[in-house]
Amino acid sequence: MMRHMQLTPLFVKSVPRALDPGILYVSMEYGTVVHSCCCGCGQEVVTPLTPTDWKLTFDGEAISLWPSVGNWNLPCRSHYVIKGNRVIEAGSWDKAKIEAEQRRDKSAKAQFYGKSAELVTPPQKEIQEPVESVQHEVEKGVWGKLLNWFR
Ligand SMILES: [Zn+2]
Repeated sequence: MMRHMQLTPLFVKSVPRALDPGILYVSMEYGTVVHSCCCGCGQEVVTPLTPTDWKLTFDGEAISLWPSVGNWNLPCRSHYVIKGNRVIEAGSWDKAKIEAEQRRDKSAKAQFYGKSAELVTPPQKEIQEPVESVQHEVEKGVWGKLLNWFR
């Protein structure tokens, strides 16, 4: 049974330590959404927004999160979907389904982060060039001084 059937979105910079039940804290700064478990057990539920975790939809009034929030790590093992600020209770997950989801999550992360690691190569040349030109300036300066001294 869900104690909170409705959530109020609250955009925050950082999430407070003590969570008000019924509030969906959204931090774009940290790319994460946090709320107190909707079953009423008071446990903190963190749903990070990443390409392989949760996605947030905000239509200006209401927030939806996808996929569903499955709290199988909490004693209550509640499972629900947040859609348009409403909390829709979903069926409880059995062990096999949880393990299948954990496998899916692991392979999705491996695939996504494996690919993006190949694409991102740091532009080292751009970082080194200004340092070199600064050194040339310094050398010119020193030689210039020496030449002036000999003149
Ligand atoms: Zn709970």
